[in-house]
Amino acid sequence: MLQLPFDPMLSAAVHQSQTVVCHGPSLSFMYSDSSTAVADAPVSTSKKKSRVSFYNDNVKLKVKEKSVLIEKVGWIKIKEQIPIDSKYTNPRIIYDNKYWYLTVGIEVTEKNISLTEETIGIDLGIINLATCSNGEIYQNINKTKRVKKIEKKLKRLQRKLSKKYLLNKKENKFLETKNIIKLKKRIKLIHRKLANIRNNHLHQTTTSIVKNKPCKIVLEDLNVKGMMKNRHLSKAIANQCFHEFRRQLEYKCKLNNIELAFANRFFPSSKTCSSCYEIKRDLKLKDRIFKCSCGFVIDRDLNASINLKNYCC
Ligand SMILES: [Zn+2]
Repeated sequence: MLQLPFDPMLSAAVHQSQTVVCHGPSLSFMYSDSSTAVADAPVSTSKKKSRVSFYNDNVKLKVKEKSVLIEKVGWIKIKEQIPIDSKYTNPRIIYDNKYWYLTVGIEVTEKNISLTEETIGIDLGIINLATCSNGEIYQNINKTKRVKKIEKKLKRLQRKLSKKYLLNKKENKFLETKNIIKLKKRIKLIHRKLANIRNNHLHQTTTSIVKNKPCKIVLEDLNVKGMMKNRHLSKAIANQCFHEFRRQLEYKCKLNNIELAFANRFFPSSKTCSSCYEIKRDLKLKDRIFKCSCGFVIDRDLNASINLKNYCC
């Protein structure tokens, strides 16, 4: 029996992806937003927290068909069915500025999955999110027209908000008018949308990689903090959410019994020729094609992913 981790972040992230939910029994369930009882739900008043969430006693949580009993709130309609007569752990209720979610941990039986002999190396980057040694490439979602358009809209609204704040400034005090509150709500929803698009893309990517059923996956142990110091790239790196990519891959590998290895931070995955293993010291960041003195020519990221595949821990 596999006990799912108690990590509320895990369950929180899982519900946003339909792909994971169908992996085993569902992990989380969404409230019906039309339910009137939702308005009475206890709301955290902390201003520091970006996400409103509270705990529900797991013994007091009752589940019926299409509804759950939440402490002090009552019966609430749910959009997705929770397995009835299961033992629930760490139930949490989360609000993402639009919908309410209930996440619970449940026990699932470990599946017997037959894996292939293949090892996959994954090179993470900014031009493409992930380049796999089997030739699969996963795009950078932040470069798509859809995301760029939403980001543009977000910027416009943020400018509008700051102007409104300045207009309503009185004696060094910033007042919040009704219009400002409305605008802030709109901005929050756009942030939510962007986060959902990015997270969904990560889930689709990690699930797709795991579906190859390799026996081993090798990932670079990225120094994200160090990379963020490059101010020209920091925003692009932050938007790629490498940390979340790794977290998702870690638990999906665990669920599928796939070994996940990390290459040493100083392993020259980009600079090594994957054909003759010679290290090319003068490789620059802008060199997209790797040309070795042995005559081997290959895409830079694919070369790195093959080196990661061959990496021995
Ligand atoms: Zn070579």
